[in-house]
Amino acid sequence: MTEKHQELLEEARRLLTDADTERDVEEVRVRFLGRKGEVAALFKQVPQLPPEKRPEAGRAANELKQQLTTMVEQAAEEVAASRKQESARRPDPTLPGIRPPRGSIHPIVQVMDELVDIFRELGFEAVSGPEVETDWHNFEALNIPPDHPARDEWDTFYVTDRLLLRPQTSPCQVRVMEKRKPPLRIVAPGRCFRRDTEDPTHFSMFHQIEGLMVDEEVNFGDLKAVLHMSLRRLFHQDLEVRFEPDYFPFTEPSAQLHCTCVNCGGEGCRTCSYSGWIELLGCGMVDPNVFKAVGYDTERWTGFAFGMGIDRIAMLKYGIPDGRLFFQGDVRFLRQF
Ligand SMILES: [Zn+2]
Repeated sequence: MTEKHQELLEEARRLLTDADTERDVEEVRVRFLGRKGEVAALFKQVPQLPPEKRPEAGRAANELKQQLTTMVEQAAEEVAASRKQESARRPDPTLPGIRPPRGSIHPIVQVMDELVDIFRELGFEAVSGPEVETDWHNFEALNIPPDHPARDEWDTFYVTDRLLLRPQTSPCQVRVMEKRKPPLRIVAPGRCFRRDTEDPTHFSMFHQIEGLMVDEEVNFGDLKAVLHMSLRRLFHQDLEVRFEPDYFPFTEPSAQLHCTCVNCGGEGCRTCSYSGWIELLGCGMVDPNVFKAVGYDTERWTGFAFGMGIDRIAMLKYGIPDGRLFFQGDVRFLRQF
């Protein structure tokens, strides 16, 4: 192969490398392999050479033609393939769009919102407080001084000696009462924490809603009416309620509220341990010591307070036997709500 041939090959290779479209490749083909192209010119020179050099020159020109043809064909294929890829990447506006996965409101939050709506209709305002609380708001102002045995019941996680993750939403009451004067009607929904070994009904993180009403001449009958009405609304059932005496440091008298089983309507089933009743929440009349801690006149004001576990209510409402499912983040479970 002559130097001239080598140069032509190099030139063709360079032009084909730069070729982006089929038209670019075609231009290269015409320039080298066309009827008036470089190769045709070489063939034309052959008859003018001395006879003994003609066969060699002809063979060389043929070989060059072969090589150039292969190069051009390859380049044409590459350009076509990349154009195909390009059009595959380009969005097709005629196709239906890809629907992004849509989340939904967590079942616990749904129940929380529903409770807040029900209490709002009864004149209660929703408030919130910090999840990291002071010992004062969580214990002392609620009539639970240091070393009080009741503290064991609310054993929680401590950030420092005086700061803790709240084990109940009750400190919200204290925070509101410190700032406002009666009459008051508030509910405080939120997240709480406690040191508990997890099982189907106990979690180290859980949700509560706390209620407080303070006014002149508030009595136990008001408490019963508010709870009875709100539970009927929540479970969409004509259920009955009853009180059982209990003890809480911040209420006196204190009670557990039971309602007829939402699963069997009082007949007896596994959910209610065949008693027909379910223990639902703790409540009572606010202890005067709590009012004293926030500077309320205990002669003038009386009030009631209650607190219920939202997770337990959600379990009852949706018939879920293991509450841990709420917090495991399994989308197959959560998608059902
Ligand atoms: Zn039952």
